[in-house]
Amino acid sequence: MSAPQQVCVLGATGSIGLSTLDVLARHPQRYSVFAITGHSRLAELEALCLAHRPRFAVVARDEQARHLQGALRAAGLDTRVLAGEPGLCEVAGHPEVDVVMAAIVGAAGLKPTLAAVQAGKRVLLANKEALVMSGALFMHEVQAHGAVLLPIDSEHNAIFQCMPGDYARGLEPVGVRRILLTASGGPFRETPLERLAEVSPEQACAHPNWSMGRKISVDSASMMNKGLELIEACWLFDASPSKVEVVIHPQSVIHSLVDYVDGSVLAQLGNPDMRTPIAHALAWPERIDSGVSPLDLFSIARLDFQAPDEQRFPCLRLARQAAEAGGSAPAMLNAANEVAVAAFLERRIRFTEIAVIIDEVLNREAATPVESLDVVLEADRRAREAAQAWLRGRAR
Ligand code: NDP
Ligand code: MG
Repeated sequence: MSAPQQVCVLGATGSIGLSTLDVLARHPQRYSVFAITGHSRLAELEALCLAHRPRFAVVARDEQARHLQGALRAAGLDTRVLAGEPGLCEVAGHPEVDVVMAAIVGAAGLKPTLAAVQAGKRVLLANKEALVMSGALFMHEVQAHGAVLLPIDSEHNAIFQCMPGDYARGLEPVGVRRILLTASGGPFRETPLERLAEVSPEQACAHPNWSMGRKISVDSASMMNKGLELIEACWLFDASPSKVEVVIHPQSVIHSLVDYVDGSVLAQLGNPDMRTPIAHALAWPERIDSGVSPLDLFSIARLDFQAPDEQRFPCLRLARQAAEAGGSAPAMLNAANEVAVAAFLERRIRFTEIAVIIDEVLNREAATPVESLDVVLEADRRAREAAQAWLRGRAR
């Protein structure tokens, strides 16, 4: 048996991070936890250090690092604690790391995820915002550094599994007509339109099928999540936006489909549990146990499909427009959305104002070509500033 692969889990305290640690712990001979990172949930990070005994842990600030370092030392651990973005990038690109789970939420994950890519790691991509922001640059770095990029988003993992075998070996996906990206429709799929302005953060975060972090839960309720996933699919599978169709499938059993020119449509099914795509990407091209119970088709009994309603879900339309505009538009869409979702979670705006803010920002700030990471970061900064200006105007 060869030595265990060393795994770095960026965003270990989150929903994807915890599911990843759960899968890793089922295979101690195969995987070893090299580094874990957290941001605000420090007590949870400390408990994870005690359970998994990583070589490194990363927190947000120096004083937090000192505090955690002291606590771990007192518990007899020699885990080294680092701080901030430099610490995240250091562990993501560490020479001893084989696999990096990129599961920080939002734009904060961009640089650490890129550090893993640039170090040529096997990168398990949950942090879709990183790819949405930097698209062509990100994919170029994957190629240039020989990184192996495997999608964790359940839909993209499903598409990856349904793509022709040659595709995974880097060849053109021959014969693919369309990608069918499934969406549950979230908690407000059938809420009367006039009530959407009044829904609370708690209602938005109560997803019918998936248990996830708060930001992606709100994105799922607005269907911005599907919009970001549309952009993510275009980059991962080298497809134009017109080749990606969104299909509402409320049961979340089919995780996505690939439609071929001969009329064959391949789908990947499974219980809605992120440990399936996580285990798939960890072990690919092999298969390992994920702890997910077998799919019971008899209890599911039926699978439904419907077209998305863009009047109900304007964020989906805005994301498709940004995908078609290209350049810095997706980075601005993402940044405006992050600011708007945070404001909604803080009860400063209505749910329906999320799309209003994004629309306003995209109208105000023209998209530019993206030649460098600096251009992406500048687009991100300007869009955040424009969204904040909207919020300030709203407060008056
Ligand atoms: P969570 O909110 O549960 O976790 C986010 C993680 O990122 C936490 O570890 C958090 O630390 C850390 N974090 C937050 N802000 C920062 C920051 N500024 N710097 C460094 N670390 C930070 O989110 P999820 O696990 O749900 O989602 C993670 C990513 O995976 C997202 O991009 C999401 O879109 C994607 N994804 C998630 C799915 C899911 O089922 N949950 C499905 C598909 C994709 P702390 O908690 O300590 O503050
Ligand atoms: Mg998804």
